[in-house]
Amino acid sequence: MTHDPSCIFCKIGQGQIPAKKVFEDDDLIVFHDISPKAPMHLLMVPKQHLVSLQDANESHQALLGKMLVLAPKLAAENGSPDGFRTIINTGRVGGQEVYHLHVHLLGGPSPVGRMLYPIFSETVMGSFSVWHWLIVLLIILLVFGTKKLRNLGSDLGGAVKGFKEGMKDGGSTDAAATTQKTEAPTIDVQAKDKTPQ
Ligand code: 5GP
Ligand code: ZN
Repeated sequence: MTHDPSCIFCKIGQGQIPAKKVFEDDDLIVFHDISPKAPMHLLMVPKQHLVSLQDANESHQALLGKMLVLAPKLAAENGSPDGFRTIINTGRVGGQEVYHLHVHLLGGPSPVGRMLYPIFSETVMGSFSVWHWLIVLLIILLVFGTKKLRNLGSDLGGAVKGFKEGMKDGGSTDAAATTQKTEAPTIDVQAKDKTPQ
């Protein structure tokens, strides 16, 4: 059986590093994940060093089948009798962190939640969903937008009022100017009349 001396799961399988073990035989060791992502989070680990599912071949069929068949029994015994989730992260794209093949068993008394976010919100919107972004936009509008809109409204109102008053004043000034223009000759005539000859 092959082992990698620098591999953490090989070390756990050989008893060199402690783990909260729930099952062990010649082929497998099953223990609690050190950083559980659900009330029940077990790791099923073959004792032989197998890097990932990408390295599995026909010689591993019996081992992989054994792990899957054992999963429901161990889940039921460890607090997840009504179902569970199995995950095998494989390679860079699969987000594998420990390069020794293992099956995650996640469960507990309640459903464990969604498996993955839709590809759209992951790739286009980052880790936020469309709804998160809409809520953020709404908050920005409420905090800054209303003040700006109010100012814009009063600015426009002021401009219209100013324009109206300008029109009114301009009209009366013109009227006065017209009056002055029409009256001016009268004054001139009178002045001319009074001028001593
Ligand atoms: P991966 O991302 O490779 O599928 O998952 C590796 C898992 O191994 C992670 O959930 C991580 O918490 C767990 N893990 C890493 N180191 C240890 C350890 O030393 N002991 C135990 N019990 N779990 C570990
Ligand atoms: Zn290993």
